[in-house]
Amino acid sequence: MKKNPFGDGNDCLDGHMKQQFINGFYPNRCPYCDGLMKNPEDYACPGCKALLPSFSMERFAIGGYYCAAALRYDGSYAEAVKRFKFKKRAQYAPKLAFVITSSVLQIFTPEQISTIDAVTCVPMHIRDLRSRGYNQAELLARRCAELMSLPYRDAIIKIKYNRKQHDLSGAQRIENVRGVYRCADKSLVRGKNVLIIDDIITTGATLGACAKALKSAGAKNIYCAVLCTTVNY
Ligand SMILES: [Zn+2]
Repeated sequence: MKKNPFGDGNDCLDGHMKQQFINGFYPNRCPYCDGLMKNPEDYACPGCKALLPSFSMERFAIGGYYCAAALRYDGSYAEAVKRFKFKKRAQYAPKLAFVITSSVLQIFTPEQISTIDAVTCVPMHIRDLRSRGYNQAELLARRCAELMSLPYRDAIIKIKYNRKQHDLSGAQRIENVRGVYRCADKSLVRGKNVLIIDDIITTGATLGACAKALKSAGAKNIYCAVLCTTVNY
């Protein structure tokens, strides 16, 4: 572990001023109820914070890659993800990333965490990126990297446009991501331990395909972490 991400509040002045500037346009909202927050540095409003589970869950991406999951994908957590992805609530990213990072610290051992070399994310196809304007997984991954004092790398690219995973069954999902992801630059991952971030894990087909792409490029160990896990394996 390189840095304690829990409430140190030691953002540099530049970071603080940038945040103030952003707040002028995007008022600080709690991701889980979308209510305005008095303390913009906090990761949830007092009411939602009290309800957040204190234990994270372990999941596996296809191929046996270990994945830390902070929350179950239902109720206010599912609503938070939907607003974050589809209702232009990109400003949730630091708060959600804090919860993901806490989950990484719970699920992985200090030995594993201390060997992580870089953080990356599940990429979007350029077509989807253009229509949404941002990749929610990248926003999370960049902030997680900051919290863990690790470099963020655009290590994976999506080379094929495929059907949306949530429309498909388990077996179809594995087929749908075959040959879709590729390492962007082998020199970024060769011999490295990489943490891949996404917003949700369902079957683990997408994270598994991304992990496989990095392993094929020579990465050593792959760890995964997400905000939410669904229960339908
Ligand atoms: Zn709230």
